[in-house]
Amino acid sequence: MERMYEKNRRIIMEAKLIIENQRQYFQTRATRDIELLKGRLIKLRVEILNRENAIYEALYKDFKKSKFETYFSEIGIVISEIDATLKHINTWSKPKKVRASGLNFPSRDYIYSEPYGCVLVIAPWNYPFQLAIAPVISAIAAGNTVVLKPSEHTRHTSQLLDDILTAVFPTEHLTVIQGGVTETTLLLKERWDYIFFTGSVAVGKIVAKAAAPFLTPLTLELGGKNPCIIDSTMSTQLIAKRLVWGKFVNAGQTCIAPDYLLVHTSIKAQLISDLKLEIIKAYGENPQESEDYPRIVNSKNLARLTNMLQDSEVVFGGVFDTDDCYLAPTLIDEPALDSEVMKDEIFGPILPILSYETEKDIHSVLSHYDKPLGFYVFSNNTTFYKKMIETFSFGGGTINDTMIHFGNPNLPFGGVGESGIGAYHGRLGFDTFSHKKGIVIKGNWLDIPLRYAPYTNKLNALKKLFKFFG
Ligand code: NAD
Repeated sequence: MERMYEKNRRIIMEAKLIIENQRQYFQTRATRDIELLKGRLIKLRVEILNRENAIYEALYKDFKKSKFETYFSEIGIVISEIDATLKHINTWSKPKKVRASGLNFPSRDYIYSEPYGCVLVIAPWNYPFQLAIAPVISAIAAGNTVVLKPSEHTRHTSQLLDDILTAVFPTEHLTVIQGGVTETTLLLKERWDYIFFTGSVAVGKIVAKAAAPFLTPLTLELGGKNPCIIDSTMSTQLIAKRLVWGKFVNAGQTCIAPDYLLVHTSIKAQLISDLKLEIIKAYGENPQESEDYPRIVNSKNLARLTNMLQDSEVVFGGVFDTDDCYLAPTLIDEPALDSEVMKDEIFGPILPILSYETEKDIHSVLSHYDKPLGFYVFSNNTTFYKKMIETFSFGGGTINDTMIHFGNPNLPFGGVGESGIGAYHGRLGFDTFSHKKGIVIKGNWLDIPLRYAPYTNKLNALKKLFKFFG
């Protein structure tokens, strides 16, 4: 108890000191020096590429992620984010001229981007490299200082993140604090200027509560039960190929993976048969032997997932190995909505397949759940998929594929309702981490007298002005 108290006291002191140093550094305005920022981002790019093999190794040690998946979903995305930031940072950080209001004539109007100050980024374990560094890039580009708290469940990657970032940034600009619930709880007691959290809905609510007393603005990147609606107008073989990729990449531990399928009854049997074939094509008869198939991050999550198989009809897979944290790609046929697998976000390689006859059935299933982070429709019927996009509320989505909306930095990435607050990527990431100041610069060469008292006989002229310019 005494030791625990001492450890907590040390963490609090350390955090206070780091924040204090970062605030002083922020006051020097060095974090807004674009050339300095570019230099550090270039150095970060070099450090990451120099340690490419170490990154592969760390992710492999953490949950046997393959080099290919590590490159496309961790390293590649981060490098693209750095490149886009380097290319556009000058434009993003300049005051943006906007159309002035005729009511203020004569004036010039601008939006100024101003960094918040000291930002806390809390990252999850499932894409432990990318989901930690991508928000850090945006926060730094926008001129903030950062404290990053990576996940405690992927300790090899978190240590490497610490090494890479420490080699690039002085601590007063960016510091990595490693730790779990205790450390994060203590960090959340401090006053931050912005908090960016990626993780579960339950912890997101804890973070929002901690931010409330200080009115700290925040982004919450959370999860949800992402539906995938499939009508009968597309080749089931193509659907199966794209679904097997989207569901089983990272062993299903992806916040935007399709959580469950809602398939038109007429093609369900064929789709299940094609899914089985595609799983075997991708990972072989025994996926445990495949170099491309990752593991579940820890035994607690494996137990959570295998528990979902208890009251379900497994039609493919279902094999697991506790010692190896392995769970095979698994298909479940027609689970009840109150079964374990349909209660919460699955976040693993289990794909429940439900069927529908009418659009009313689709509504009745989706209405069971909060607004999801991802949403997918496979259909060649434009009217149908447009109706689905417009009818349901969700973070973002892809038609005729899964997850690929994440890869376009021109699209906002974020949730709505229970799946999150706010969005980022590309320019939006920069905007997320900057307060926008609206500025009017009034001209002095003309001073229209209308607005000044006394107002006698001016009301009609005012109405006309509003009609014209308002
Ligand atoms: P998590 O919520 O358990 O942990 C996220 C972070 O919060 C970690 O750094 C952890 O140390 C910290 N944390 C955990 N418990 C805490 C507590 N009680 N108090 C304070 N801090 C605490 O999430 P996870 O298991 O790492 O990730 C999985 C979840 O994240 C899934 O729900 C998934 O959908 C979601 N996710 C969302 C996105 C997105 O971009 N929207 C991306 C990846 C994952």
